[in-house]
Amino acid sequence: MTKPLITRFAPSPTGNLHIGHAYSLLKAQGLATSHNGSLLVRIEDIDHTRCKPEFVESIIFDINWLGIHWTGELWFQSQHMEGYGETLNTLKELGLTYPCFCTRADINAQIKNSVGAPHGPEGFLYPGTCKKISINDLKTNISENKPFALRLDITKSISYLKAKGRWPLYFNDLGEGKTKADPQSLGDIVLARKDIQTSYHLAVTVDDHRQNITHVVRGADLFHATHIHRLLQALLNFDPPLYRHHNLLVNPSGQKFSKREGALTIKSYRDRGMEPKEF
Ligand code: GLU
Repeated sequence: MTKPLITRFAPSPTGNLHIGHAYSLLKAQGLATSHNGSLLVRIEDIDHTRCKPEFVESIIFDINWLGIHWTGELWFQSQHMEGYGETLNTLKELGLTYPCFCTRADINAQIKNSVGAPHGPEGFLYPGTCKKISINDLKTNISENKPFALRLDITKSISYLKAKGRWPLYFNDLGEGKTKADPQSLGDIVLARKDIQTSYHLAVTVDDHRQNITHVVRGADLFHATHIHRLLQALLNFDPPLYRHHNLLVNPSGQKFSKREGALTIKSYRDRGMEPKEF
């Protein structure tokens, strides 16, 4: 028997929903409805420095206003920090993480001073400085309580999977088809920030697994993140969901809509008299 389809809408409450979110939400709902499946709503609120309760409220209001029904309780990532910590420990125990003491300024300086620093879809890759740190410096940093992030060692992770005969990896995208995962394109990503004991990549991979998500519907701007998520799934023995990275709505100048463009929020359309069915 095939598993029932479960998809999710996963906004971060750092602003009001905009027209691009409405588009993504309607796509996810359309997929769920056409397959007799369910749509879950996950509030991605791990970043306590940017997320605000009033945006959680406005997001829920907008989803309801659009007439979209979701299944079950809302899932708040901030209530699942323990689970992310456990998963992080699994990766630590596999020896696939390392502490990174670099500040953003350190990283920028390292990149500036290196010739041909590798570049990925999100900009320059982390140059791997703390991977080469001496044991003595590591001990000093720890004894001085220097804050650190935890990074995933991509090269080691790939070797680990190779040794198990589980490399290369692929993911399936309903638009792009079978895609070979290339996690190296993002470099040694952060799994736990200095100030927050998880990161987007870790939390989203864990939650898609825990919530039994079978189909991830999200914008094409997150396509590259899927290369990392696929690697994490393999390291953690999670079944990969199917992906649907939809095209992004763009403004007349060809740029994707962002939260900064206040005039394009769902609220602003509602305030101007637009009806939910016109979305
Ligand atoms: N929380 C992310 C956002 O609001 C979406 C993450 C995802 O769909 O994987 O952009």
